[in-house]
Amino acid sequence: MQTMDTVEGKEPRLPDLFCWTDDGFRLKSAKCNDCGSYFFPGYHPQHRPGCKRENVEDVLLSPKGKLDTYTIQHYMCPPPFKTDHEIAPYGIGLVEFPEGIRIAGIIMETDLDSLELGMEMEVFDYPLYKDEDGNDVVTWAFRSVK
Ligand SMILES: [Zn+2]
Repeated sequence: MQTMDTVEGKEPRLPDLFCWTDDGFRLKSAKCNDCGSYFFPGYHPQHRPGCKRENVEDVLLSPKGKLDTYTIQHYMCPPPFKTDHEIAPYGIGLVEFPEGIRIAGIIMETDLDSLELGMEMEVFDYPLYKDEDGNDVVTWAFRSVK
């Protein structure tokens, strides 16, 4: 699978967290082949006690997971979060991926009342603001699979 750290007109807000592939947008993780742990970010240094973290490989997570828990925020996310959009109210939640790792993120959903635990969610690139070159600076976000 071909992976790209940037695509035309889009720049990641922070490096090494996600990428674009010929099969869509994906979160970058890492897997320990000794103990089976997954990490996010993939470079996260902490590890399971008793495992030496010597057999870790970079992997991409599945594009979809299930909503594990969430809450609705009625105020804007504080700095360093930055966006040009008035997003409140918005969801923030944990999505459990088939690999067994749960990842937190903002939930961009037109109908927040439709959120239900266990529902299928997909990760996508959310444009936060434009940089001086006119590129969308993006982060990851979740939305329900229609
Ligand atoms: Zn391990």
